[in-house]
Amino acid sequence: MQTQPPSIVMQHIRPQLSIDRAGGRRGDAAWIEGMLAHPQARYLLLADLKQAVVSDAEDRAAALRSFTAGELTGIRLDLADVVFLGLAEQDVPVFVVALGAHLLAAFGSVLEGCGPFVELRSLALQGQMPPEELALAGQARALAAWHATQRCCGKCGARTRSREGGWRRDCRACGQMHFPRSDPAVIMAITHQGRLLLGHEHRFPDKFYSVLAGFVEPGDDIETAVCRETMEEAGVVIGAVHYIASQPWPFPHQLMVGCWAEALSDTITLDVAELPEARWVSRDEVTAMLAGSHPLGHKVPPPLSIAHTLIRGFAEGRLGAE
Ligand SMILES: [Zn+2]
Repeated sequence: MQTQPPSIVMQHIRPQLSIDRAGGRRGDAAWIEGMLAHPQARYLLLADLKQAVVSDAEDRAAALRSFTAGELTGIRLDLADVVFLGLAEQDVPVFVVALGAHLLAAFGSVLEGCGPFVELRSLALQGQMPPEELALAGQARALAAWHATQRCCGKCGARTRSREGGWRRDCRACGQMHFPRSDPAVIMAITHQGRLLLGHEHRFPDKFYSVLAGFVEPGDDIETAVCRETMEEAGVVIGAVHYIASQPWPFPHQLMVGCWAEALSDTITLDVAELPEARWVSRDEVTAMLAGSHPLGHKVPPPLSIAHTLIRGFAEGRLGAE
């Protein structure tokens, strides 16, 4: 039985930082003002968290679309709450402007000329956009989603305002500082003697299966969360938990922590309210699911996700005992 954490080649989308976030300088309000006044400053645009992109002749999105400050103020967009994403090549500052769903109607057809606007999941699935652009779009989406829910202070209820180029919000009344958060969740390949535990959740499309996942709760460490979620959802008892890899998942702002553990038995006791179906699947069957050649049409998540990386790692013999 394999006891060492396996080395697994990363195949999911990872944040390949194409920009310098300038964490040591963005706290300086004067420096941010200077970046906003930079003649080459670029602005990404989100409308209801969908990304403005450039598409090719076949209408496939191939790149993030960026704007100048003049182009955006020209359509009367308010740039007061822009978020600084970082410095691109030659220290050109990149910001994101996010228009909430409630504001879209006010702009109407003016916005059409700025699009198309595409959801990040679709961009990743299309496979046309370079990984570093997808990572930048993920950063922009996660920050925009956080700002959209932090208008008021969780401590006293007063209004908050953006600080540090959008990397903090401060309460106007009590001064409480609020920072962008990532919500950790575990996602785990549970194996047993050469088979992988796959589940079908209520929210999944028909014939779609994936590895189990769940949020890290207060008081959990990663290992406890993996054991607890596997037990709660499938009633499966597992041995040692091994960390494999992680992935930011900006829907809205999660961090997926990918793990592997060998089950101590193959007994499944489902909590059907959480998980209607779970079963042990052989390597041959998982390989067919990945290849799209499963006889019953069963599918697994696409390559953009860490779930796919874990499932492929099992199929190729890099995860789990024989
Ligand atoms: Zn407050």
